[in-house]
Amino acid sequence: MAHDVDLFVIGGGSGGVRAARTSAATGARVALAEDSRMGGTCVIRGCVPKKLMVFASEFHEQTALASAYGWSFDHGTFDWQAFRTKLHGELIRLEGVYREVLTKNDVTIHDQRARVSGANEVTLADGTVVSAGHVLVATGGHPVRPDFENADLGMVSDDIFLMETLPASIVIIGGGYIACEFACILNGLGVEVTQYYRGAQILRGFDDEARGLIADMMRAQGIDIHCGTNIVEMSADGSNVRVKATNGLERSFERLLFATGRSPNSHGLGLEDIGVKLNRRGAIEVDAYSQTAVPSIYAIGDVTDRIQLTPVAIREGMAFTETVFKDNPTAPDHVLVPSAVFTQPEMGTVGLSEEAAADQEEIEVYATSFRPMKSAFADRSSRVLMKLIVSKATRKILGCHIVSEGAGELIQMVGIAVKAGLTKEDFDRTVAVHPTMSEELVTMHNPVRTA
Ligand code: NDP
Repeated sequence: MAHDVDLFVIGGGSGGVRAARTSAATGARVALAEDSRMGGTCVIRGCVPKKLMVFASEFHEQTALASAYGWSFDHGTFDWQAFRTKLHGELIRLEGVYREVLTKNDVTIHDQRARVSGANEVTLADGTVVSAGHVLVATGGHPVRPDFENADLGMVSDDIFLMETLPASIVIIGGGYIACEFACILNGLGVEVTQYYRGAQILRGFDDEARGLIADMMRAQGIDIHCGTNIVEMSADGSNVRVKATNGLERSFERLLFATGRSPNSHGLGLEDIGVKLNRRGAIEVDAYSQTAVPSIYAIGDVTDRIQLTPVAIREGMAFTETVFKDNPTAPDHVLVPSAVFTQPEMGTVGLSEEAAADQEEIEVYATSFRPMKSAFADRSSRVLMKLIVSKATRKILGCHIVSEGAGELIQMVGIAVKAGLTKEDFDRTVAVHPTMSEELVTMHNPVRTA
């Protein structure tokens, strides 16, 4: 029986839009439903507005550096309203670009919520039923608040971009990507930032030496980080939030941000009713080809909780198209994915941390931490870290960790070498680019330790 469409995509984020576009380009008839703004978390309330806020916040340190280099000017103040207006204008433009990409590829857009009502059927909020050869669920995730009284007095990351005014003070709960990135951003914009993290050191899972340096640098910039500390109680204090912490501190802050993780958007989609399996965290269970327990239904991106990164969701979307519409079964590759944490300084990382690598095999560690030329001249205390983890047996680079200005840009390039399986000797054979910070990656001749 012919279906209304060959593919129905639920979710207009990075993964869904890419899969819809590439599938439609094969000649498939494709429809996509999105009940919020086109572009999803990355474009509307994640990576893109966050990175623009990173840029805005960096000028504070840049102007301090400029003064040390002989420039004199009035440092001025940051106008949040002016920035926010421009930011939202940019997001509207990008949303339009995403929409245009779909319409140019003849993808039918439904601006409403959709649920799966059968193995080959989707029902829209207005009651329209659409039959589809395949259904792709790409509904992403959402930030979660811990479950305790008055938790709704706190913001989540979605709310940051909508704030009417910048607060004078904020407490951030959490020690992951979002907590640390917003701690640095808001500190740079002039907000007094306190951070409570329940573990022993922020950025759990990353290389210990790298996250230790990031924590030191964040503290040096004035961010008040309390590790081993969590919130136990919160209440309204006029327009402020009063917070009681496990370390006994009780303080009032103008705002509170929960950066306590994200959950898959998998509920209310009718998935379990038709046999699609969810795991304990609510993520859709898929095989290596992103296929669910119901053969006509696939899922990609954060709703599957494999690696919560936009470029990974995009890869999963393209692999889906290869598998389903190009007769070329393709499993997305989740090995050696480079990524960056946009703290100040940034952390770029690919492969294993020293700790994870040492658990796996015998390793050599090559590392150097130093004051870069640019900040040493300006008498600033900032330090960088360049670190390589090398397999003793194969000489391959198992991990690279960079803490420096521009580490996100650097790790993209190193990621190619590590993905290609290059050895320490290949790095050593490469001539340094001088004077740069990253030349250290090809000039570290002796391991600092073995394990
Ligand atoms: P993370 O999982 O990175 O961090 C969550 C943090 O919240 C952890 O420090 C965790 O502590 C803490 N936490 C969880 N539950 C509680 C609780 N009940 N009380 C107190 N603390 C709690 O999630 P994020 O929200 O920061 O980011 C989600 C994902 O989004 C990331 O994993 C990443 O993949 C992606 N992302 C990527 C970015 C990038 O590429 N630059 C930027 C932003 C997000 P503990 O460590 O003890 O579990």
